Amino acid sequence: MYKLMINGIVQGVGFRPFIYKLAVEEDLKGFVLNNTGGVEIIVEGDKSTLQRFMTRIKSELPPAAKIESVSVRELPDRGYNKFEIKLSTKGNGSTLISPDLAVCDDCIREFSDPDDFRYHYSFINCTNCGPRYSIIKETPYDRPVTSMRDFNMCNKCRSEYTNPLDRRFHAQPIACQECGPELQFIGKDLKSINGDPIQNTIDALKQGKIVGIKGIGGFHLACDATNFEAIAEMRRRKNRPDKPFAIMANESNLAEIVEFAKTDLVLLRSTIAPIVILPKRSPSILATNLAPFNPNIGVFLPYAPHHYQIVDEKLPFLIMTSGNLQDEPIAKDAFELQQICDFFLTHNRPILNRSDDSIILPTGKFNVLLRRSRGYVPTPIQAPFPLIPTLACGAELKLTFALSNNKEYFLSPYIGNSGSKATMDFYEETLQKYKRWFNLDPELVVCDLQPDFTTTKLAEAMKLPLVKVQHHHAHTAAIMAEHGLDEKVIGISYDGTGFGTDKAIWGGEILIANYENFERIYHLEYMPLPGGDASIKHPIRIAYAYLRSAGIDTSFLTGIPSWEQKVISKQLVNNFNVFQTSSMGRLFDCVAAMLDLYPNITFEAQSAMALEFLCENEDVLQIEPFSFHIKSGLIGIKPLLRDIAEAIKNKAEQKIIAKRFHRTILEFTLVTAQRLRRDNNLNKIVLSGGVMQNKLIVSGLAELLVKNDFEVYRPQKLPANDGSISVGQLMIANRINKNKMEK
Ligand SMILES: [Zn+2]
Ligand SMILES: [Zn+2]
Repeated sequence: MYKLMINGIVQGVGFRPFIYKLAVEEDLKGFVLNNTGGVEIIVEGDKSTLQRFMTRIKSELPPAAKIESVSVRELPDRGYNKFEIKLSTKGNGSTLISPDLAVCDDCIREFSDPDDFRYHYSFINCTNCGPRYSIIKETPYDRPVTSMRDFNMCNKCRSEYTNPLDRRFHAQPIACQECGPELQFIGKDLKSINGDPIQNTIDALKQGKIVGIKGIGGFHLACDATNFEAIAEMRRRKNRPDKPFAIMANESNLAEIVEFAKTDLVLLRSTIAPIVILPKRSPSILATNLAPFNPNIGVFLPYAPHHYQIVDEKLPFLIMTSGNLQDEPIAKDAFELQQICDFFLTHNRPILNRSDDSIILPTGKFNVLLRRSRGYVPTPIQAPFPLIPTLACGAELKLTFALSNNKEYFLSPYIGNSGSKATMDFYEETLQKYKRWFNLDPELVVCDLQPDFTTTKLAEAMKLPLVKVQHHHAHTAAIMAEHGLDEKVIGISYDGTGFGTDKAIWGGEILIANYENFERIYHLEYMPLPGGDASIKHPIRIAYAYLRSAGIDTSFLTGIPSWEQKVISKQLVNNFNVFQTSSMGRLFDCVAAMLDLYPNITFEAQSAMALEFLCENEDVLQIEPFSFHIKSGLIGIKPLLRDIAEAIKNKAEQKIIAKRFHRTILEFTLVTAQRLRRDNNLNKIVLSGGVMQNKLIVSGLAELLVKNDFEVYRPQKLPANDGSISVGQLMIANRINKNKMEK
C-alpha cells in the first residue's frame, strides 16, 4: 500500500472527489482525506495499477488544483475493502486557500439550459469554479467558516454536496434558487426596486445609467461602453478625466473591438479571468472617450454567472471598472458608492475579502503582469532560498505586502495607493487575516528607505527587528526571486520614484546586486525636479527645469505660461524646494512635454504612455539613437535633450522623435551593460521597475541584450511595478538578517 501526501492547492477545488473517482475506476481500496497540511491518500492495489493511478493524478488534475509536492511512502497492506472519502483531520501546518475561480464551462452549460435545475441561477458554481478567497473567514476552508454559512442547503443541494461522485461534492458555495443567495436591484437611496433585478440592470444600462454591480472581489462601476454621454458622466462623477476604463465583453463580439491572438484568448478564458490589454480595432462601436489617445484597451470576459446574464450579444460591451472612490480601495458594499451610481445590482452573499481584477499586458512571447490580484491571491509563491517568518511592508504606490514562512511567501492582493485611511485600513485588515489563516507570525519586518511612507511608519511601530531596503535594490531582488536567481547580477531598474541612499530621487538605475547588497554603478545624471510631487502632475514644469539646467533654449515649449516660467526659474536659482532626480519616469515626462503631449497629466504614467503610443508599436531597434554620454557612473542625458530640442525646432516628425528617444534608452543601457560585463565578468541582467511596463522598452531591451549574448531576466509572474517591491524587500531583509545572525 502507498501513502501519498499531496500539498498545494488541493482543497476546495474538487480534489478529493477526483481522487475518489480515479481510485474507484482503477479498483483501488483505501481512503482520501483533507488535513491542514494538504491531502492524504492511502491506496492498496497491485503495483502497476498504483503507478498508473499516480500518473493519472498528475495528468488528469482538476483545472483549479495545483500540486506543489507529493511524498510517497510504501507501507504494508492493511486489507481495505473499499475506497472512501474520510472526514478532515487536523494536522500540522497550514492549508492553502484557493483563489476565486471564474465560473466553468460545465456550470455555464447548466446555467444556459432552460431544463436545468439551476437555469439562470446567478450563483451557480461547482468544485471547479466559483468564489473561494472572497468568501472565506477562517481556515481550513469549510462552509461554516465562509459567507455561505447563513444559507441552509436545500435537500437537492445537500444530496449533491454529500455525494462523492457528484461534481458539487463538498463545493462549499453550493447553492440554488431554493436555498442560496439572491440578486437585488436597488436605487441610489439603497431601497429595493421591484421587478427582475437582471432586467432592471440591463434596462438602466441601456438608458445610459451608471450601475454599481456587486461581483466576486468587490463592486464594479458599469455603464454602456458605446454610450459617450454615460462615460462622460462616469468620468465626471469618478473624477477620472482621461484614464482608460476596462471593458467586459461578450466573447463572440470580442473581435469587433480588439485584435487578439489565440494565447490571449486562453488568458481571457482562464480561471483567473484577468483584464488583458489588447490593441483596439478602429473604427469600432466603442465610444471615443473610453480610452482617449490610447491604441489599446483592457478587456475581460464575464466571470461570474450574473455577468453572463448582463453582457451578451444585445449588450456586448460594458465598462466594468473597479468600484472605488478616488484613492480608496475597491468597495464591497453599495453605500460606499452612493455618490457615483444611479442604481445597484447587489446580492446577499457578503464579500469578506476584496480583490481587484488582475491585469496582464501581452508583449509578444512574454506577458507583463501589471496587477496580481483576483484569481492569483492568496496562492503562495516558492522562495528562492529558505526564509524566516517576515513581513515586508511594500512601498507607497500600487501597495502590496508580502509575508513569508520558511519556504514560501504570500503576496497580498493589490491594496491601492497608500495615503487614505480607507486604504491603510484595508491593508491592516488583510494583513491580520493573512497572519491568522496561514499561521504566520513575523519575526522580522522590512520597509522602504523613504522615511515618510505610511508603510515605513507602520514597520517602525512594530517593535520587531527592522531592515530598510532601497527601492531599486528591492525592484531588482523581486525579479531575481521570480527567476530563482541567487548570485550577483546586473540590475536595470527604470521607474518613477524611489528614495536613494543619498536622499535624492532615484529611478534610472543600473546596479550590481545580489540579495545582501548592491552597488549603484550607473545612473541617469541628476536633474532638478522643482516642487517634487507637484511637478510630477505638471510634466511641462519638468521639461522647463531640465532644459534650463541643460542650458537649452526653452522658447519652443508650449503649455507653460510666463508666470509659471518665472516661478520655476526663481526656484531653480534659489534652489528652493528643488529635488535632484535620476528618474527614468521623469525623463519620459520631460520628453513628452517637450513634444507638447501632456503639459499636465491626470493619471500616473499618462505622458510616458503617450510617448510609447507615438511609436505605433513599431520596431525601434532599426532607428538611429540620439546622443548621450557615459562618464564616471553617469548617463548624461543633456545631449539627448539638446538633440530632441533641435529635432523639434527642425519640425521632425513626432513619431520619429519618440522612436529615437526609445532607441537611445536601449542603446545607453546596452553600452553600460557591456562595460559592466567587461569589468565585472557578469552576464545575467535583471530588468525591473515601472518603465518595464512599456512594451517597446522591455521587449526592445530583452531583444538587444540577448542579441549581445546577455542572459536576460524580465518580470513576468510578478508585477514590474511597485506591486512587487514587497517581494524584493522580503528577500533582501532575510539575507541581511541571516548574515547578521551568523556574525
Ligand atoms: Zn463550475
Ligand atoms: Zn439548494
